[in-house]
Amino acid sequence: MSDMLRELYQEVIIDHNRNPHNYRNMPEANYHADGYNPLCGDKVHLYLKVENEVIQDAAFQGEGCAISTASASIMTDLLRGKSIAQAKQLFEDFHDLVTDKQVADIEQLGKLAVLAGVKDYPVRVKCATLAWHTFLAALQNKSTPASTE
Ligand code: ZN
Repeated sequence: MSDMLRELYQEVIIDHNRNPHNYRNMPEANYHADGYNPLCGDKVHLYLKVENEVIQDAAFQGEGCAISTASASIMTDLLRGKSIAQAKQLFEDFHDLVTDKQVADIEQLGKLAVLAGVKDYPVRVKCATLAWHTFLAALQNKSTPASTE
């Protein structure tokens, strides 16, 4: 990755961390879950409103490092309007990206691509994927906290 691209990506992450999108409570959520990344101390609570297999709304609360907060912020933006199947595919592609596998369609990932830099830091991969693991846990409506382990 070029230095310029890396700087641009860092700016997007800092921006999402400073002003996280969809950071709010959602009383009307019909799916939710807690996520915790013990390696870094990141905590996220995810809210989803799902109707007919389509995600109508997504929001989160919690405390974490810049990477985990930016990831949750970008994820909740992207989830809105997606079907459950599309969202799961997006996570698979994103997971491939941050674990340095070939990604079939990087365009699909949109702003998630800014998190590509974490692949050089295995601990940071957990931060970047916490919100997504929590998303999968929420779909099961699990009441137990999701873990990145
Ligand atoms: Zn973290």
